[in-house]
Amino acid sequence: MKCTNCGQENRPNVRFCKKCGTDLTLPPPWFPGWRWHLKALSWIYLSVIAGFFVISYLLHQLKPPYNQRQIPAEMTPWLNPHKVPAP
Ligand SMILES: [Zn+2]
Repeated sequence: MKCTNCGQENRPNVRFCKKCGTDLTLPPPWFPGWRWHLKALSWIYLSVIAGFFVISYLLHQLKPPYNQRQIPAEMTPWLNPHKVPAP
């Protein structure tokens, strides 16, 4: 990269110019502050909460039996350790 002070060509990824010693590490043009983080986190939380209600509403719109939230125990006998299904 080229030095902005003296024009000396330097190897890439060097921190200082080898001729005049100018700092070649440029600061990032934008760094998010706490306000940006607060805003981003608020949007993420709001999206998650809104998504929960939207998905919950959509699941309740399904026709039975797809809308039921609990599987009856007789449909899953292998989950009950005390009840051995008949062979
Ligand atoms: Zn220089």
